[in-house]
Amino acid sequence: MQYVSTRNKRWRCSASEAIAQGLAPDGGLLTPEVLPKLSPNGLTTMTDMSYQQRAVFVMNSFLEDFTASELSSYANHAYGPDKFDTKEVAPVRAVDDSTYCLELWHGPTCAFKDMALQMLPHLLSASLVKNEEKKTVCILVATSGDTGKAALEGFRDVDKTRILVFYPKDGVSDIQQLQMRTQEGGNVGVCAVVGNFDDAQTGVKRLFSDESLRETLAERGYFFSSANSINWGRILPQVVYYISAYCDLLREGKVQKGEAVNICVPTGNFGNILSAYYAGQMGVPIHKLICASNRNNVLTDFLLTGVYDRNRTFYNTMSPSMDILISSNLERMLFEFTEHDDEEVRGYMEALAQTGRYEVSEPVKKKLERHFAAGCCDDAATQAMIAKMWTERRYLIDTHTAVAFHVLEQYRAGTGDATPTIVVSTASPFKFCDNVLGALGVRELADGTAILNQLAEVTGVPAPAPLAALAGKAVRFDQVVEKDRMVDQVLEMLK
Ligand SMILES: *Cc1c(COP(=O)(O)O)cnc(C)c1O
Repeated sequence: MQYVSTRNKRWRCSASEAIAQGLAPDGGLLTPEVLPKLSPNGLTTMTDMSYQQRAVFVMNSFLEDFTASELSSYANHAYGPDKFDTKEVAPVRAVDDSTYCLELWHGPTCAFKDMALQMLPHLLSASLVKNEEKKTVCILVATSGDTGKAALEGFRDVDKTRILVFYPKDGVSDIQQLQMRTQEGGNVGVCAVVGNFDDAQTGVKRLFSDESLRETLAERGYFFSSANSINWGRILPQVVYYISAYCDLLREGKVQKGEAVNICVPTGNFGNILSAYYAGQMGVPIHKLICASNRNNVLTDFLLTGVYDRNRTFYNTMSPSMDILISSNLERMLFEFTEHDDEEVRGYMEALAQTGRYEVSEPVKKKLERHFAAGCCDDAATQAMIAKMWTERRYLIDTHTAVAFHVLEQYRAGTGDATPTIVVSTASPFKFCDNVLGALGVRELADGTAILNQLAEVTGVPAPAPLAALAGKAVRFDQVVEKDRMVDQVLEMLK
């Protein structure tokens, strides 16, 4: 199976080329030419498999230039017991008779980004070898918090790779910042940018398109690639856990073969929910994908009206990983919903770049309506949901997950839809201690990493080991740059 650019479907490449390149030369996203389907018994076959085996089974059909034994070795490394604190890797927890929570934060950095970023370095390293690339790859990352740490942890000390992460100085939580600033490894760099996530992301995009920088680095033996969710190697491992979750529900008799579920996803860059869509196309019966946003509700408006308009105020919220005005992976969704009409997609993306706005055609609107529901909530409602889940169910959730539960409640109240629903839990509550404690009514917050103990004491829930270990770690990176000086950091790191 070949991969094509969403902006030019005549531009083709193999899976390993797509992963090695990250982005098509025309700025489009590399996307499978056809989506493979599971065989009619595929889901049943997978119910008795381990998570690692399910990953191989699903990924194999997308990655023709990789062998099953290669994938199996990656999956065992990526999702092994030294990385994940539960054998199930991505456990599904029953919240009530028709609500299930897919916990995606049992990995080394306690956020769902680990699911993909533990796998991507294996795929990328192998892709470079398969394509006879001699240069060292430098992964540039713009992060709203969780991606950066997960990418650093995934790539640390991986041969022939460097990684440089930029995060918005005032857009991440204290724990997230500490996680990145204490990162270990000989091939890593971390730097704060003055501004918000979009400033950091725009800055990174500018680095990618800087021809003279590219030439300088090529002379030094480096080239850029991306670990942002525009890379296909980020999206594919995420398809796995949706299929896995459905298999778990089948195995436990919570759904019957062929029975549809809804999937409710706290959404930012649209990568996670897009993966759910692909799982549906492969054969998981999905009724609605429910897209949950915080106060930055550009996606809610888009899914309800067909108009994408980024010309609006940007808010820093309690769910910073969703503080985004441009959701890059929406481009892949548009490519699917226009039936791979690259010209139409290009038109939308040009309008977005020039005016910050586009309106999709009627056929695309119809498909959006058929597949998606959407909702949003503010910080007060987010905290109210954390309190409610804790008081009523003794279930401690983070701010992003709370947005999803709130939007699900709204959706059910508005539609009466009783379809069993999988809510995606994207981060450990311990990554956002201050706002979680605030939600539980605690007014005096402990400083620094002591806040982890405070949340553990208040709730009796232990902090995840990787976060508890932060207390004893030295800060290695404390640089801050203006957004137009990011290039200096790159040249300094890749001397
Ligand atoms: C990245 C992230 C999200 C948003 O995921 P997208 O794939 O960008 O939509 C939601 N919650 C958390 C905790 C995240 O880290």
